[in-house]
Amino acid sequence: MIAAEKDLNAVSELGHWDVERIRRDFPVLHQTVNGKPLAYLDNAASSQVPQLVIERGTRYLREEHSNIHRGVHYLSQRATSAYEGAREKVRRFINAREARECIFVRGATEGINLVMHGYGRKFVGPGDEIVISEMEHHANIVPWQMLCEEKGARLRVIPMNDAGELLLDEYEALLNERTKIVAVTHVSNALGTVNPIKEIVRIAHARGIPVLVDGAQAAPHLPIDVQDLDCDFYAISGHKMFGPTGSGVLYGKAELLERMNPFMGGGDMIRSVTFERTIYAGLPNKFEAGTPAIASQIGLGAAIDYLNSIDRAAAYAYEQELLRYATERLSSIEGVRVIGTAREKASVISFTVENVHPHDIGTILDQEGIAIRAGHHCAQPVMQHFKIPATARASFAFYNTKEEVDRLAAAIEKVIEVFN
Ligand code: PLP
Repeated sequence: MIAAEKDLNAVSELGHWDVERIRRDFPVLHQTVNGKPLAYLDNAASSQVPQLVIERGTRYLREEHSNIHRGVHYLSQRATSAYEGAREKVRRFINAREARECIFVRGATEGINLVMHGYGRKFVGPGDEIVISEMEHHANIVPWQMLCEEKGARLRVIPMNDAGELLLDEYEALLNERTKIVAVTHVSNALGTVNPIKEIVRIAHARGIPVLVDGAQAAPHLPIDVQDLDCDFYAISGHKMFGPTGSGVLYGKAELLERMNPFMGGGDMIRSVTFERTIYAGLPNKFEAGTPAIASQIGLGAAIDYLNSIDRAAAYAYEQELLRYATERLSSIEGVRVIGTAREKASVISFTVENVHPHDIGTILDQEGIAIRAGHHCAQPVMQHFKIPATARASFAFYNTKEEVDRLAAAIEKVIEVFN
């Protein structure tokens, strides 16, 4: 028995992580695809939702569906209390000081765009600089490029090494009196790297520069404490943390959010409107124009209830064992190259297979009932760093199993046979 396998068994023998019991909470996992049991290894794109989330969303639609905030009637009050209740769950989940610092958005992309419009367009001018990193998702590149183009500002990029780790000395050297914001990912979706966010924030704050953290890939795995990280903004996508699509959060420090311009104008974000002048509402409403994704955000609240109901430390340890086991299994296959070998990684493994395009890997794996992702993962600069067009990516959640990793390895061996 290889070491990683022994560790994995130890986790289950100790009874810390009963994966079969956890799997029963996720109805979607129990189906066949192309005649094979589904092995869902595409969690970094979207994770699956537990029964609790499905039931909460259904209850809202069946018993509470109505618009929030404006109604005096019973249904509207119930919907409002569920929606605002979800905000309070988010606050506790990320340890924000106040619920009004948690703005509901459709996902991390919208959260980052909100900061670009609300903070960037107000405070960034010609000649100013914005610092991002080489491993960002396009969602944390393109909005800043758009801002630079509009304002005549300059994008600076923290480089990474070939393990997929950011070079902190180079980061520090990039910062200067023109730097207006640092925007970095907590966990890379393409490589799995976990970045030292506390240190990154400390370095920026020593120069008075605010930091936005893209937390889309961190929230499903790591405990998030925005006060401990001391970040100024933190963006989350609900559909990557066992909630519905259309849900998400932008956390921002109240004093910054208050100084920012609204992102969108419309209903619910105002205190009063005349043709001469509009006075904006306070937080969080100032940033939530129009009817929000009420059902989705209530569902996100239920996903947080679910995460609070499990032992997250044990879930993380289990995911780490899956990652270690998968890395060992895949690395031992001739022709497979693992991309991203940082010392600290979330349960994401990107790889290439010699002479086979990742899309072909994905298609053959699908025939085996195995769902992975193939492509540039919306992180083309990462692909450019490694001089490859794309990777295949398996990403694990705490409901995946060692048997699924074995099936993944066997299917990759089959791919190699087919193409050689
Ligand atoms: N940031 C990272 C690191 C991601 O992995 C993703 C999605 O893959 C996003 C941002 C964008 O998230 P969404 O599409 O939910 O807005």
